[in-house]
Amino acid sequence: MRLRNIPGADDVIAGCPYVIQDGKAMKGRHQESFQCSQPIYIEIGMGKGKFLYELAKQNPAINFIGIERYSSVLLRAIQKMDEEPLENLKFLCMDARELSEVFAPEEVDRIYLNFSDPWPKDRHAKRRLPSREFLDRYDSILKKEGRLEFKTDNRELFEFALEELPFANWKAEAVTYDLHNDEEMCKGNIMTEYEERFSAKGNPIYKYIIYR
Ligand code: SAM
Repeated sequence: MRLRNIPGADDVIAGCPYVIQDGKAMKGRHQESFQCSQPIYIEIGMGKGKFLYELAKQNPAINFIGIERYSSVLLRAIQKMDEEPLENLKFLCMDARELSEVFAPEEVDRIYLNFSDPWPKDRHAKRRLPSREFLDRYDSILKKEGRLEFKTDNRELFEFALEELPFANWKAEAVTYDLHNDEEMCKGNIMTEYEERFSAKGNPIYKYIIYR
């Protein structure tokens, strides 16, 4: 995402009705941000929000919250909502390290991670969104029967993500090393921006669905 430091991005976000302005104040009350009280699905590291926008459009009976750390990236998702707003989609500009300060236990029904930053250096492993440290954070906000879905084209990151599961007491429900040629797992697949870019280059897409 080469969209850092767009002047005025913070001001746009501060006045934006699609953005939950004070995530910590909404802990345990995120349903109040939406017109209907219904399950909450979140995507962490949403980028420009293509995947979540399409998912929200297809699923009006679910409330979606897109989480993105950089306001200048989130701006693109806001522009899409300006063109065609969806009642069941909101955004949070925050670092996912603070998830348990923003969501109450079991407030979230499903979590999506798509093409998370790889942080290839070993000393940065804790920053990877599928690391055991982040799995513990997800555990603290996800419903007991909730699922987490992760897609990437980065083989090393995917192997790492699978190896982390037992350390955080998660289990794989479904795993594929070639999502686009896996009829069952690809059913209803919505491509993310990065997925379109990397699958067009011929990269296989890896995906798991996990639970605990
Ligand atoms: N999910 C999108 C896709 O598949 O097209 C974007 C992928 S992009 C490689 C990763 C995004 O995750 C970036 O926009 C980055 O700013 C965001 N991100 C990375 N770490 C994050 C964190 N700890 N909290 C919130 N967002 C994060």
